[in-house]
Amino acid sequence: MIPVHLLDTGHCRSWEHHLLSGGRRRLIDVPCMVALMHHPLHGWGLFDAGYSPRILQATAAMPYRIYRWITPMSAPVESAAATQIARFGITPDDVRWIVISHFHADHVAGLRDFPRARFIATRQAYEDVCERPGVGGLLRAYLPALLPDDFASRTTLVDSFLASPLEPFGGTYDLFGDGWIRLVALPGHARGQIGAHVAAVGGPIFLSADACWVSRGYRELRDAHWLTRLIVDDVRQTRASLEKLRILSAANPALRVFPTHCPEVRDQWVRR
Ligand SMILES: [Zn+2]
Repeated sequence: MIPVHLLDTGHCRSWEHHLLSGGRRRLIDVPCMVALMHHPLHGWGLFDAGYSPRILQATAAMPYRIYRWITPMSAPVESAAATQIARFGITPDDVRWIVISHFHADHVAGLRDFPRARFIATRQAYEDVCERPGVGGLLRAYLPALLPDDFASRTTLVDSFLASPLEPFGGTYDLFGDGWIRLVALPGHARGQIGAHVAAVGGPIFLSADACWVSRGYRELRDAHWLTRLIVDDVRQTRASLEKLRILSAANPALRVFPTHCPEVRDQWVRR
């Protein structure tokens, strides 16, 4: 069983009704969470790297400054995963693996803080952004300065999901071959996005990345606002992933589903 700790690495301000059709017309602080995990053989690891002050440097100049205008954010150093892990008695060098759900800036800004980590992402997600400097990448919420210079040599790119199925998603990618952390395709929000089913201490957890922003999204099958849908990679696949998430959750009442940006999950599960 894997101990899982949710860390909130910062937040951005957004209208609730932009994140969820039928949401209220009010500004909310949207968290940006990562999961810190410990595997008995492979050591400490993360699901996503979250915000880091590096995102402020990466968005200081145009055209990347546009990112800050669209998502006004707070990314203080004390909230960064690399700072918070000290509470667990570890340093950034102790983090040996990081699963990258997708390459949007809020999920990769902390990668450079972990110099010894190996990375796991889908080839589809990486290839969608790696050749897109400037505005082309920005349109995909990708800031190339956030990736470590040696990213390619430290990364395992996942091509297929052939391990034991997790219905209704189908096949999985068994991260360490023991069935404890299984990666699942969650396409739609970003090309090649993945989530993770974790055999966690206290019961299974599904890290659902940005398949929806808030938990009501999958529980009530609510899309995001049409304006927000403009930035997703594939609206039809987003809907399909959301439906699968709802089916998975309904069939497994004990499963805890953690969308990266859900304030309800932050309030219930992030320990400070
Ligand atoms: Zn995100």
